[in-house]
Amino acid sequence: MDPSAPISDEPPRPSRRPRPLRGLAWLVGAGLLVSLTAWWAAGLARERALGDLRQIDSETMKLVVSNLRVELEKLEFMPQLVARDERIQRLLERPGDPELVAAANGYLEEISRTVGASDTYVMDVGGLTLAASNWASDASFVGQDFGFRPYFKEALEGLAGRYFARGAASNKRGYYFACPIHRDGQIIGVAAVKVGFEAIERTWRDLPGPIALTDWHGIVFATNEPGWLYRSLRRLDERTFAEVNRSRRYSGVVLDPSALVEIQLIDGTTSRMTVLAARDGAGGPRRPGAEYLALSDDLPEYGWVIYTMSSLRAVDGSVRAAAALGAASAGLLALAAFFLAQRRQYRRQRASFREREQRMLRRNQEELERRIAERTADLMRSNQQLQKEIAEHEIAERALRDTQQGLVQAAKLAALGQLAAGVTHELNQPLTALRSYADNARLLIGRQRLDEAARNLERITRLTDRMASITRHLKTFSRKTGPDRREPVDVVRALEAALSLVGVGGADGGLELLHAKPAEKLLVLGDPVRLEQVFVNLIKNACEALAGAERRQLSIGYRAGEEAIEIEIRDSGPGIRREHLGRVFEPFFTTKEAGEGLGLGLSITASILGEMGGSVRAGNHPAGGAAFTVALPRAVARAQARSA
Ligand code: ADP
Repeated sequence: MDPSAPISDEPPRPSRRPRPLRGLAWLVGAGLLVSLTAWWAAGLARERALGDLRQIDSETMKLVVSNLRVELEKLEFMPQLVARDERIQRLLERPGDPELVAAANGYLEEISRTVGASDTYVMDVGGLTLAASNWASDASFVGQDFGFRPYFKEALEGLAGRYFARGAASNKRGYYFACPIHRDGQIIGVAAVKVGFEAIERTWRDLPGPIALTDWHGIVFATNEPGWLYRSLRRLDERTFAEVNRSRRYSGVVLDPSALVEIQLIDGTTSRMTVLAARDGAGGPRRPGAEYLALSDDLPEYGWVIYTMSSLRAVDGSVRAAAALGAASAGLLALAAFFLAQRRQYRRQRASFREREQRMLRRNQEELERRIAERTADLMRSNQQLQKEIAEHEIAERALRDTQQGLVQAAKLAALGQLAAGVTHELNQPLTALRSYADNARLLIGRQRLDEAARNLERITRLTDRMASITRHLKTFSRKTGPDRREPVDVVRALEAALSLVGVGGADGGLELLHAKPAEKLLVLGDPVRLEQVFVNLIKNACEALAGAERRQLSIGYRAGEEAIEIEIRDSGPGIRREHLGRVFEPFFTTKEAGEGLGLGLSITASILGEMGGSVRAGNHPAGGAAFTVALPRAVARAQARSA
């Protein structure tokens, strides 16, 4: 598993309902709650306020009705009192007597003032007023004919007449009580008393709501509401309108048949009244559109209906207030519920988030631990493997070293054995030369050619030196000893010495030597003897290769570079076989007959050159024959040599 791969957790589960939908549900729920509460509170408030108003109206009603009854009833029996009075009786007997008129007038005036009646008066059977309490005023009843008045007609029939009307002479509304005046069983006149409404109305002024006293048709004739007087609560149909006008009850008033209010009956005595705007706009009622809760009570003995009213504005206000309060409370409640729900949900979410987070952390930790354990195990395994491999390597190396050492030792021993046998081969040439030089020296001494003999002896000395050095080199081949000599060696001279050692250059056996000597002196650093040995080996091999050749040619060439010098020794022999090219420098590799070659020459050559910082390579020339190229670093770089 890739340790860098993120440790993923399961994706968060979707909540039960999509968020916007839940919000909408909340909103709808809250709206419903608010509306319902507002509606319920409004209903409750309306009920309550209406109840209160009804209560107020009913209290007002009681007060107003009892007051009205008292005001009226206290004068109900006054006409009978007047009818029995002697002065009235006498006046009716002699209606034209001014004294009697004056006495009657005085009496009526006084009694009227005493009881608080509006007017008190006496009529003859024809309806003519003979005496009246208001005899002295401008609107005196005296001499007026009230024969058309229903109360007069009733009284004339012997009944107790009572009637409401607007005074034809006084233009004042009043309630009339009348009774017949008897004398000896005969009706001789009618006594009447008028109760005014001004005083009654005055007592209504301070009441908060409108009071309306209406006749049977609904025409208001007493009220504390300006503009309502002589208006009908209900619309008057034509017949009623004509009848009312005919009765002259409201003489002098132009009646309006349209309805003053719109009435919605709530129950038998309770109704809702809305004041209608006046049709003509002028002289209409106050506050058109005002609404009232009206309570009605019948006064059947008078043929009236009385209304006490309370403005519904307060109700509407309190209903609105209650609705608002209810809505606000419900809204608050909803808000609180919403807040609580949100908080709960938030807490739940937070808890679940924490739980998930912890679960994830735990899982990550476990995963991490598992990976670490895996990794550790892997590492331990590879470590163990490595240790095992190291141990194996060490064993193998030791075995290899042992084997190598064994091999080296064995090879050395073998080489030594073979060397012992091959020393002859290496020393054969100088020995042969020694012998011939010695023989020659002996002959020369015998012929007294001492100088030449001395030269030969010198050569012999040099040869013995060389032989000693050869043995030393053979020794160093198996065991390296002593420091090497390093001195500038003339390459061409070393080569010439080698040629001379091998015996090439003379007119021997038809070997053609092509030695292209360089113009400059080529110096390399090293041991001159050993360099000579290198060239001896190479030249000797070339000569041996040329042994059976038709054309025996040995070419020696030089290539002088800036830093190094190359010497090519080429023969016209058979060349080196392809498969042997890579092996000729191996120690003891030889293609020669047993006893002829040891296979050490090239190996020693390579070894010597290596020690001198140079190298040798073998190859075949395109024109035929083997070519060995020796490369050696210059003792002094060419530039230095030039400037020196
Ligand atoms: P040896 O001469 O004793 O065989 P060397 O090490 O001198 O040992 O040479 C190894 C072999 O390289 C030779 O046996 C021969 O096969 C091959 N060789 C060396 N020089 C030449 C040459 N000039 N021409 C052809 N073969 C050569």
